Amino acid sequence: MNFHVLTLFPDMILQGVNTSITGRAIKNGVVSVSAVNIRDYAGNKHMKVDDYPYGGGAGLVMQAAPVCAAYDALAESLGKRPRVVYMTPQGYTFNQKMAQDFAKEEELVILCGHYEGIDERALERIVTDYVSIGDYVLTGGELPAMVVIDAVSRLVPGVLHNSESAETESFENGLLEYPQYTRPEVFEGKRVPEVLLSGHHANVEKWRLEKSIERTKKYRPDLYQAYCERNGIGI
Ligand code: SAM
Repeated sequence: MNFHVLTLFPDMILQGVNTSITGRAIKNGVVSVSAVNIRDYAGNKHMKVDDYPYGGGAGLVMQAAPVCAAYDALAESLGKRPRVVYMTPQGYTFNQKMAQDFAKEEELVILCGHYEGIDERALERIVTDYVSIGDYVLTGGELPAMVVIDAVSRLVPGVLHNSESAETESFENGLLEYPQYTRPEVFEGKRVPEVLLSGHHANVEKWRLEKSIERTKKYRPDLYQAYCERNGIGI
């Protein structure tokens, strides 16, 4: 899968994704991440890509022309016009289901805004998906883009090794994951739950499901309610 990030800060993206599991996937050629500098498409000698908002108000707005030109050049080089995800606090909140959906694409463009955002006409022309990473406002779309790249790429076949499988993780079955333990058996006087040492697979699975349900009910009552509805459980 190939991610193409349209940004004013390409270094931020490239430095952020080249480590850990995404870094390994890039090195192995399973995933690629390219960062297109929107400023390269400024089309003026001062490389200016922003201007004051019509109607007044604080800050600067990224101009439509460089954003569209950056996308058009990318689309031309790919020979198709891929889906464009605009990172914005005004979008649908990113979740595992969206990550699964994006992971089916061969090419995915992620557009990062900065300052007060991007001229609406560019968004109307190229954006297919408006995605937020939560109800707070960040300085730019680069960190959100990295969040999306990380979550999506670990669902691309071949990115995670078997031992890192995504299948049992939080949200995959609509529940949060059960608590995890590793050696030593006793840490500061606290023992690992006995069932996990029993070697009894069915009991371990039963315990894990119970714990998943317990913590989903406690921390994410919205998910717990949906789980109960799906499974015909009365609350
Ligand atoms: N004026 C915009 C508004 O009120 O909706 C906020 C602009 S924000 C300062 C600059 C850029 O950061 C946005 O264009 C977007 O790309 C990114 N951004 C900020 N918060 C975000 C969030 N919660 N999720 C995704 N992107 C975000």
